This record gives sequence, C-alpha cells and structure tokens, in this order.
Amino acid sequence: MDGSALREVALRTIIEPFRIKTVEPIRMTTPGDRDRILRSARFNPFRIHGSDVLIDLLTDSGGAAMSSEQWAGIMRGDESYAGSESFWRLRDTVKKLTGFENVLPTHQGRASERILFELVGGPGRVVPSNAHFDTTRANIEHSGAEALDLGIAESADPRRRHPFKGNMDVAALEALIARVGADRVPVVMMTVTNNTSGGQPVSLENLREVRRVCDRHSLPLILDACRFAENAWFIKIREPGQRERTVRQIALDMFDLADGVTISAKKDGLVNIGGLLLIRDPALFERACNLLILTEGYVTYGGLAGRDLEAMAQGFEEVVEDDYLSYRIRSVEYLGEKLLAAGIQIIEPPGGHAIYIDAAHFAPHLPREEFPGQAVVCGLYRVGGIRSCEIGGVMAGPGRTPPMELVRLAIPRRVYTQSHIDYVAEACAELFAVRKELRGLRIVRAPEVLRHFTAEFEEV
Ligand SMILES: *Cc1c(COP(=O)(O)O)cnc(C)c1O
Repeated sequence: MDGSALREVALRTIIEPFRIKTVEPIRMTTPGDRDRILRSARFNPFRIHGSDVLIDLLTDSGGAAMSSEQWAGIMRGDESYAGSESFWRLRDTVKKLTGFENVLPTHQGRASERILFELVGGPGRVVPSNAHFDTTRANIEHSGAEALDLGIAESADPRRRHPFKGNMDVAALEALIARVGADRVPVVMMTVTNNTSGGQPVSLENLREVRRVCDRHSLPLILDACRFAENAWFIKIREPGQRERTVRQIALDMFDLADGVTISAKKDGLVNIGGLLLIRDPALFERACNLLILTEGYVTYGGLAGRDLEAMAQGFEEVVEDDYLSYRIRSVEYLGEKLLAAGIQIIEPPGGHAIYIDAAHFAPHLPREEFPGQAVVCGLYRVGGIRSCEIGGVMAGPGRTPPMELVRLAIPRRVYTQSHIDYVAEACAELFAVRKELRGLRIVRAPEVLRHFTAEFEEV
C-alpha cells in the first residue's frame, strides 16, 4: 500500500471493533409512561428502574459488555478461598501493566479508597488532587481530612480547548504545601482521566511535574487510575513525542510515577464489578492487607468471586488495545460533535468516557438554586427515555458551588452502537429546541452525604 491508500483507510468510519453475540432487549416507553415514572422517582434518575430506561448513560461504571474471552474466564474462575489461580493471573496481569508487585483486589474503587484513607487520612490533614471524584472526596472527609481540588484554570471554561484540561495547577500545589506545611499533606492524588472536569486527560509532563513537587517535599503520589487506558490514549495522540509509543508503554510511565494506585475496574477494567489497590511501600501494604481482611475478605479475593478476578484480568488486557481505544475515544467524540452541531454547548474538547453538557448554557432561565443540570436530566428522560447524570449543585452538596452546572452523558463500554448514539443526539437536539419549557427543581428530601444518589425533588 502506498501513502495515499493508508490515508484513505484513516478517513473511513472507525467501526465498533467487535460483533455482537448476545443481545439484551431494551424497552420502548411513551412520553406519558416516562412522565409518570419520573414523578414516582421524585425526579431523581437514580431512583428509576433500569428496565424503564431506553438508553442508559447514567454512568460508564460497571455497565461494560464483556468479551467472549471474559465470559470464558467466568467459567475458568478458581473459587479457592485462599491463593486462587484467578488471583495469580490477575496479579501477573496487573504487575505487567503497572509494575506494581503489591496488588490487592477490592470489590470496587471506593473500597480501595476507604482502606487507603483509613491509613493516611485523618483530622487536620489535607489531600490535594487535580479533582477528586465524589466517593474519593467522601472517603477523605469521612476520615476527618480535607479534600482539595487544584485543577488548571482552563478546566473551568467549557469552551476552552486545551489538550490536557485534566492537569493539576502545579503552582497551586506548591502554594498549598507552603501554606499548610508538608507534614499535613499525607499524599497528593491525581485522577486520570479527570472525571469531575469532564473526563479530560492529564499529560505525562504534568504528572512528572507533580512528581517532582512530591519528591521535593517527600510526599507520596497516588493515582486514581480508573481510566488509565483512556488517559494513556490521549497522551499517545496529543502529547509531543508519544505517538509512536504503545499504550502499554505510556501507561507504565504513568504508573511508574506513583507510590500507590486506586482503581475501579468497573471503568477501564471492562468488568461489571471489581477494583484494585496497589501500594509500593511494603509496610503500608501490610497494613492495607489487614484492613482489607477486616471488611472485604481474604487478600487473594478482596470481596470478589474467583470468576470476577478472572474477568478483570482479561479486561485489563483488552482495554489497552489500539483498536478498542481508537473506537472508544472516537465514539464519544462523535456524540460531542453532533451536540455541538445542534448548538448545544458541551465541555470542549470531548472527554474520554462521557460528554458533559453545559446546563447553564442549555437552560439559562433557571437559577443555580433550581438545579438547571437536574432539570436537563429530567428533560432528557422525558423526551427520549435517556438516563443521564447531574454533575453540578446537586452532586456538590449543600453549601458548595461547583465551577459548572453539568449534565454527563457517560458512554458504557462496548454497549451501544452508532445508531443508539445518533438517537441520543437527536433527543438532545429536540429538548434543546424546547428548552425554555424546562422547569427548575427543589429538593424535598436528601441525606447528609452523597445526596445525589437518593435525594427527592419536586418541580418549582
Ligand atoms: C468510579 C470512580 C471511583 C469509585 O469507584 P467505584 O467503583 O464506583 O467505587 C473513583 N474515582 C473515579 C475517578 C471514578 O470514576
């Protein structure tokens, strides 16, 4: 093939790199059905039954379609209480991928966070991050410590196209350490990709700069690496000098910089349940093992079945494949392009796992006290049976004003086809055309922490 033929291949549609072997019907509903369902769910999509949702973009967590090899692994799973062969396979896969020797399986990401912050958190301490995920923040605060977000200024502007909008503001990190003292900072965290700021990647350069600051003050660096493969792909295609390197090499560079890692395998592990806690320091690892045994199970299964470990090991192999990642990132970008073309403001450029609609732009007639993001979420369900998630005032919690009011359309991995995504874009455009009719919401009941999961609303 000469150069022109190669260019032509690159211009063709990037297709789903799989064919479908098992199908799961989804249920069509009428607008009348959906209005009734929404009201009985108190305008909170977390309270809607899954079977009442047509296209479920609530989260990209745990909804992945597993491959035939993963399902084969489910049968091969070794259910030995201690020393399961499935654990050793997972340990070897994770070691090859991350370089970490000390691997603990957990049932999901927040279990890893809970153990980590029981060890390093506590009153008077401050944990900085590019942006903490909600469960990470909640676990840090539950330990009595303070969780701080130090994203770069560009991340607060939805229109600003920056290749690595997930980066940390390194000068702000230095200033924080100078202000509170290094002894009050137990760890520095970096979330890759940065979920809270729009699934935006962090550059290798930024990770290295943060590492240098950590070294100067002898602070451990922890990666929240739920979407490490998507982040590595963005580094490959956007960071100078990285294009010829493999995703595995880039991912290894990222992990090499860290002293510890928390992972929810429900994202880039391509499984429905599972997580990891990796810790380099042997003494700290031993303490983590003891805590894990207290609530999760033995150290070679961490609250999971042997078959889950087997599926996770296989998922971590598949997620770093170029064909998978180019399809994955392109399919999210495709939805983003369609919404922008319809005049809907999203966080630009599109992130790795989701499209984030700027709800303040979508529904400018609604004040922040009336939760414009939640109003758009309810509107999308009414118009198209699409379930999305507010990431704004509701999720931030009382007394906090997040930088943006967003609606996240998270794309589960390998689940929906291009026509599903076309349908989503059409429904968004339909709602946008009648956006002035969207009504605000007020909270009638909510728990003290993580209120977005269970809060009840009524229309203003
Ligand atoms: C999902 C997620 C977590 C928590 O993981 P769970 O498996 O939901 O407990 C932590 N950090 C980030 C960035 C996440 O996206």
